[in-house]
Amino acid sequence: MQILKSFNDVSLVVDNLSGTLGLVPTMGCLHAGHLSLIKQARMQNDFVAVSIFVNPIQFESEKDAHEYPRNFESDIAMLESENVDFVFIPDIGEVFPYGYQTYVTVTEISRVLEGSRRPGHMRGVATIVTKLLIVFRPDSIYCGQKDGQQSILIKRLVKDLRIPVDVQVCPTVRDSDGLALSSRNIYLSAKERKSSLLLYSSLCSVQDAFRDGIKNSHILRNIIANVLTNDSLLETVYISIADFDTLEELDQVCNKALCSIAVKVGSVVLIDNIILEEVLNE
Ligand code: AMP
Repeated sequence: MQILKSFNDVSLVVDNLSGTLGLVPTMGCLHAGHLSLIKQARMQNDFVAVSIFVNPIQFESEKDAHEYPRNFESDIAMLESENVDFVFIPDIGEVFPYGYQTYVTVTEISRVLEGSRRPGHMRGVATIVTKLLIVFRPDSIYCGQKDGQQSILIKRLVKDLRIPVDVQVCPTVRDSDGLALSSRNIYLSAKERKSSLLLYSSLCSVQDAFRDGIKNSHILRNIIANVLTNDSLLETVYISIADFDTLEELDQVCNKALCSIAVKVGSVVLIDNIILEEVLNE
C-alpha cells in the first residue's frame, strides 16, 4: 500500500493507472462501517484509494475538529489487510493552504437536517469531496447510507457539476444490537449506549408502520417521537421524513423517502436513518 501525502503524489499515481479506481473518503478512526465501503470498492475496481482527512471546515469549531478521534496506526493496519492500494493522508496545509478561499455549496440540500444543526458542515463536505474527485478522478466514489444526507448531497453535486463518477451508496453497518457503527460511539457510557438502541428501534417501528400502510408523515414522525421520549437520557434534535432526492419534508410518503433522526445522548449527537420505499411484489 502506497501512502500519499500530497495532491502531487496523487496526480503522479493516478496519471499512470490503467484500470478502474474506487475512492473511499473517510475521516479515519476506521471501523467495520468504513470497511464495508472499502470491501465494496475492492470488489468492483482494479485499484482502491482511501483518504483519511479530518476535514476542519466541516466542524463547528477548531476544538471539535481537534477532538475528533484518531487512530492512525490501527487505520493503516486495517487498510493493509483490506488490500487497499493507496491511502491519501494530507495535512491541513496541503488541502487548505494559506490564502485558500474556494468552497462548493449545494444550496438547498445543505440547509436542512445536519446542515441546519451544523452551519457550514455540508459546505465543508461538498468542498472536500469535490477536491478529492478532481485530483483522484475515480470511476466510483463510495459512501455510506449511515450519512444519508451526505450521500444525497454527493449525488446532487456530481450531477450538477457533471463530474463523471459513479456514486455508490453502501448500507449502514450496525452492531449486533442495531446501533449504527460510528466513530463517535466511543464517547457513550454503558448506560448511554443502552439508551441509544432506541434510535434504531424507533426507525424499525416506523418501517413496520409504513409497511402496514401508514403513509402520513405526521403520524410516522410521532411514532419515532413516542419511542424516543421513553428515555430521559435521549434528547431529540430532529425527526425528518423527506424526499429521497431533494430532502424536502413530506406530508405524505409517495415514492421513496429518507426517514432520518438526530438524537443527543450525553455529549454526543447520534444520527441514523432508514429508507422508506414501497416494495412491489414483496
Ligand atoms: P466518516 O469517516 O465518518 O467521514 O465516514 C466515511 C464514510 O464511511 C462515509 O461515507 C460514511 O457514511 C461511511 N460510514 C460511516 N459509518 C458507517 C456505517 N456504520 N455503515 C456504513 N457506512 C458508514
